[in-house]
Amino acid sequence: MINDNMHLKNFTEILVDEAINKLWINYDGKCKCDRCRMDIKAIALNHLPPKYTVTDKGEVFAKLNSFKNQIYVDITKEVVSAMETVKRKPSHE
Ligand SMILES: [Zn+2]
Repeated sequence: MINDNMHLKNFTEILVDEAINKLWINYDGKCKCDRCRMDIKAIALNHLPPKYTVTDKGEVFAKLNSFKNQIYVDITKEVVSAMETVKRKPSHE
């Protein structure tokens, strides 16, 4: 039975987005375009384990917060390091 309230989510991706949003203001790379931002996201996600979870809407925040407590330090570290990589060597001219 398919329920419209059910969602398959990668919590790691949600938290990487959140970390990038927070750190983006302080990102001092030459280029701050969408491409660079997505490159940062891709690099960070490639260094982190995915965390797929099926939730219905009401459950998302409780589950996400508990996972966040476990992994947020790692996520922040990987996003900061991905920002350094893209800053040194943007993938476009
Ligand atoms: Zn760029």
